[in-house]
Amino acid sequence: MKMIGLIGGMSWESSAEYYRILNQGIRAQRGPTASAKCLLWSFDFSDIETLKHQKNWDTLSTHMIDAAQHLERSGAEILLICTNTMHKVAPAIQSAINIPLIHIADPTAERIKAARLRTVGLLGTAFTMEQDFYKGRLTQHHGLNVLIPDDEDRATVHRIIYSELVAGKITDESRTAYRHIIAKLVHAGAEAIILGCTEIMLLVRPEDSTVPLFDTTELHAQAAIEAALT
Ligand code: GLU
Repeated sequence: MKMIGLIGGMSWESSAEYYRILNQGIRAQRGPTASAKCLLWSFDFSDIETLKHQKNWDTLSTHMIDAAQHLERSGAEILLICTNTMHKVAPAIQSAINIPLIHIADPTAERIKAARLRTVGLLGTAFTMEQDFYKGRLTQHHGLNVLIPDDEDRATVHRIIYSELVAGKITDESRTAYRHIIAKLVHAGAEAIILGCTEIMLLVRPEDSTVPLFDTTELHAQAAIEAALT
């Protein structure tokens, strides 16, 4: 089994989910006492969030590369960045290390294509929904059509992530807001919804949508299990 390196703490609420999914997945495949070989580098998210909202991507990139190189030196053989948003600097990270980085958008898109779906609604931080590093990967590398919420709904999705989900706050009111936004994307033609922020799965469940949900946390961790066992 290969050693999985995780750049996490962004937020720890979702890193804990990665840890659970990895261990449950390895147990399911290797037996009741088996568990994932992994190393977790966990940031103080308040530092990361401040830099992000200052748009200081150079410093963020330096921090991510530093974490990735530490993990590689410590024995990681595969690397995951446990957040969609920080994939903005994924190319810089990959070029600074010699182990493969599993890009979170790839296993997600592969699963959508395997289900023969083409038009997807994307929920995530404003960075993820609005910038090309993520949407571009889905459209150009994978041939998907990507729909995003309107301005006001994007602001709501973003606010709930940073003021509630990363702080461990789960409310019915926010779930209702997400349900409405998902319904609007479906009305606009979405055949599936990508939960493109690793904390959304803490709030939104399959019953909150009339179309399939593709949870990036689950699919990313499952891809790591597969890579670790081959
Ligand atoms: N975990 C979130 C994501 O998947 C947001 C937190 C962050 O800014 O990294 O994008």
